[in-house]
Amino acid sequence: MSYSVRATSGKVVSIHYTLTSSAGEVIDSSGDDPLDYLHGGSNIIPGLERQIEGRIVGDKFQAVVPPEEGYGPRYDDAERALPRAAFPQGALIEPGSEFTAETDDGEMIALHIVRVEGEKVFVDTNHPLAGETLTFDVEVVGVRDATDEESAHGHAHGGGCCH
Ligand code: ZN
Repeated sequence: MSYSVRATSGKVVSIHYTLTSSAGEVIDSSGDDPLDYLHGGSNIIPGLERQIEGRIVGDKFQAVVPPEEGYGPRYDDAERALPRAAFPQGALIEPGSEFTAETDDGEMIALHIVRVEGEKVFVDTNHPLAGETLTFDVEVVGVRDATDEESAHGHAHGGGCCH
C-alpha cells in the first residue's frame, strides 16, 4: 500500500516552477532550489495555490492564472507623484525601481517608479504583473507537515527564508 501526502492547508509544499507571461516571456522561475511555501498561508498568489491544492510529490502540471486570481487588474489611473523625501535614504530612485509601501489602511502595496522629474517621483501603484494572465509550469517536489513554528509564523522556514 502506498501513501502520498497531498498539498493541503497546513502543509509545507516545495515546488519548482517557471512563470511565463501571456506574451511567452519567462518572468520568473524557482532556479536551482525549489520554492517552499506554507499551503493555505497566502504565501503565494491565490490562483496558483488553488491549483496546487490536493497535488502530490511528482505531479507536474501547468496552472494558468487569470489576473483576478493573480496580481489583480491593471488600473489606468494608478500613477501617483510622490516627493523624493518619501523614499528611504539611499534608495535607488530611478525608473523600474520597486518599493513596498503601507497605505493608511495598513495594507502593503507594491510601487514601481515610472519616471523622475526633479523632486517629483512618479510611481505606478499597479503591480508590475497586474492585468497579466500568468502561466506556471509547476512540479511538486515536496509536501510535509509544517512545524509548529512555521504554522505560528504563517510561512515556511528553510530554503533561505526568513530567519
Ligand atoms: Zn518564520
